[in-house]
Amino acid sequence: MSESLSGKVVVESLPYSRQWVSRADIRAVVEVLRSDWLTTGPAVERFERAVAEYVGVGQAVSLSSGTAALHGAMHALGIGPGDEVIVPAMTFAATANCVVFQGARPVFADVDPATLLVDPGVVEALITPRTRAIIAVDYAGQPSSYGALRRLADRYGLWLVADASHALGAAVGGQRVGSLADLSAFSLHAVKPITAGEGGVVTTDRPELAERIRRFRNHGFDKDHRQRAEAGSWQYQMVELGYNYRLTDIQAALGLSQLARLDRMVQRRQWIASLYDRHLGGMPGVRPLDVRPGIRHARHLYVVRLDRERFGLDRGKVYAALRRRGIGVGVHYLPVHLHPFYRRRFGTGAGMCPVAEAAYGAILSLPVFAAMTRADATRVIQAVAEVVAEAKR
Ligand SMILES: *Cc1c(COP(=O)(O)O)cnc(C)c1O
Repeated sequence: MSESLSGKVVVESLPYSRQWVSRADIRAVVEVLRSDWLTTGPAVERFERAVAEYVGVGQAVSLSSGTAALHGAMHALGIGPGDEVIVPAMTFAATANCVVFQGARPVFADVDPATLLVDPGVVEALITPRTRAIIAVDYAGQPSSYGALRRLADRYGLWLVADASHALGAAVGGQRVGSLADLSAFSLHAVKPITAGEGGVVTTDRPELAERIRRFRNHGFDKDHRQRAEAGSWQYQMVELGYNYRLTDIQAALGLSQLARLDRMVQRRQWIASLYDRHLGGMPGVRPLDVRPGIRHARHLYVVRLDRERFGLDRGKVYAALRRRGIGVGVHYLPVHLHPFYRRRFGTGAGMCPVAEAAYGAILSLPVFAAMTRADATRVIQAVAEVVAEAKR
């Protein structure tokens, strides 16, 4: 709390998420700035090796964003015009956009009402002879039903891709997210489990797919500058169309330094979530999403469903009331098939994914991030309790 010039007490607002940059992070970035390499160089290589080791796969390829990582994944699998890729309706637009970038068609699958994770039964019903891949989204940081999705992918000869943007640090049993699909894409945006400012990574156990993504992020050239230096030759050729989707060493240094704290940061998010579970669980009309047994949740988002019918908790009103109290709540997400672009381009619309659509009207994301304190969490819990009590009157 602080005082403004007029003497009025101003309550600082609490964001729904915020990065946590440590002194060690700053030192790591400054070290790169003082070195003779700023673009894609030794720090990028170190970061990629560390991510591959962390998730438990052979290959990690960094890119300039999570969106670029998804685009690289679609390219590596050869997704193109005439193909269909099954995508959950409840996700960030980029999960589906990467399919459109490649000239293919995203087919929207409805989600499980208890978890908002894609429902494998729904996915199976959407498979056609044109289907090439399934993209699972680890919504809120909870791993998807990888076992069931893997079996579907194998039975129908499809690729399984993970949009694990929310879920670095999550696991199923002893296996980390990033090792559970053919290709897994992560985002290093500021609010994600670790950040590089902006950035993305794809992890895989298939060297040939990793190689295609490396080429794709560097204009489609057959050799990057280091391979040319090693070969003592200036020569390179563009063998396919690519982009400049490279991560810089400056970003990679930040990512690597953050990765060293990932488990601790996830634990802190889990601790905040456990405080919410304990205090919000019993509040009438407020229901946290279910957590499946046997998984490690990365707690990127803490999502509650509000019951308007029985308890008068109108999501729009609760959102506004919490915002007035300085609580940075959010809504994740408008189902992708309801965005005007998708309605126009693919003729999608209301009624196609009723579970996701109904959820959209009732969900609210409460603040959760690694640097949050117990006092921050208590403030959120009290504000929610006040708003719930007000709605009853
Ligand atoms: C953040 C996010 C992305 C995109 O990542 P950027 O790094 O912002 O490009 C993709 N999918 C999901 C589910 C995300 O949350």
